[in-house]
Amino acid sequence: MSLQGKVALVTGAASGIGEQCARKLAADGAAVVIADLNLVNAQKVADDIVASGGKALAVAMDVTNEDAVNAGIEEAVAKLGSIDVLVSNAGIQIVNPIEDYAFADWKKMLAIHLDGAFLTTKAAIKHMYADGKGGSIIYMGSVHSHEASKLKSAYVTAKHGLLGLARVVAKEGGSRGVRANVVCPGFVRTPLVDKQIPEQAKALGISEAQVVKDVMLKETVDGEFTTIDDVANTVAFLAGFGSAALTGQSIVVSHGWFMQ
Ligand code: NAD
Repeated sequence: MSLQGKVALVTGAASGIGEQCARKLAADGAAVVIADLNLVNAQKVADDIVASGGKALAVAMDVTNEDAVNAGIEEAVAKLGSIDVLVSNAGIQIVNPIEDYAFADWKKMLAIHLDGAFLTTKAAIKHMYADGKGGSIIYMGSVHSHEASKLKSAYVTAKHGLLGLARVVAKEGGSRGVRANVVCPGFVRTPLVDKQIPEQAKALGISEAQVVKDVMLKETVDGEFTTIDDVANTVAFLAGFGSAALTGQSIVVSHGWFMQ
């Protein structure tokens, strides 16, 4: 579906899933805003998209900071004219059993995943409403929006929370053309997952190969990782979908790990 003339802002777009979402949305014709804590890498992604004929802008943004979020969205609108698509994707992972889970880590996790989703939605939706064109908001959930795993109290709580936020935004935005959905990937080999493999091996007392086979991919239908392309293609589909038939939904992209 063509996104020609649309502006899409992707948070956490300097790496992994967010980066591929930005590349795919740009390839489909959108001007993309690469919003990330890491401005150096965000700029590299933006330069690369521009070099291949796309339109991209790198913006420094800490999604937990209201002023930074508002400034980034305002800069994007000032330079590109609007926000039609928001992909709230920035995220980190901290694994630990709950009895050892530091309260500071819990708060950091909820701040990035939930405050970030709330703040970017609040700042972007005003523009979607104001120009009367509506828009598409996509939250990066996870199979952990539906399932639980050991060691992931904060992550599972936050990812479940995004389902609630998306449903409220879908109801509030419905009459004004704003759709909100959650994409829920299984395990994808990105820096976020590569970091977890040795950590989980240590915490669970098993080998790294066992973490991959028996923890991460055990419930898939084919023992395969989900890819960044699988996720980016789903995001692009939701971004370009033409009606509110698809709103308030979660789409699970996980090689059958979770079936709803
Ligand atoms: P990644 O580590 O490759 O990329 C995350 C990006 O987010 C980085 O560029 C980082 O700089 C940025 N970021 C971190 N904190 C930020 C903040 N406060 N403000 C702005 N940017 C910030 O990770 P990824 O695997 O691509 O994960 C992206 C999203 O996908 C996350 O929400 C994650 O929970 C979700 N997800 C990942 C997987 C997976 O298996 N990799 C599965 C399901 C869901």
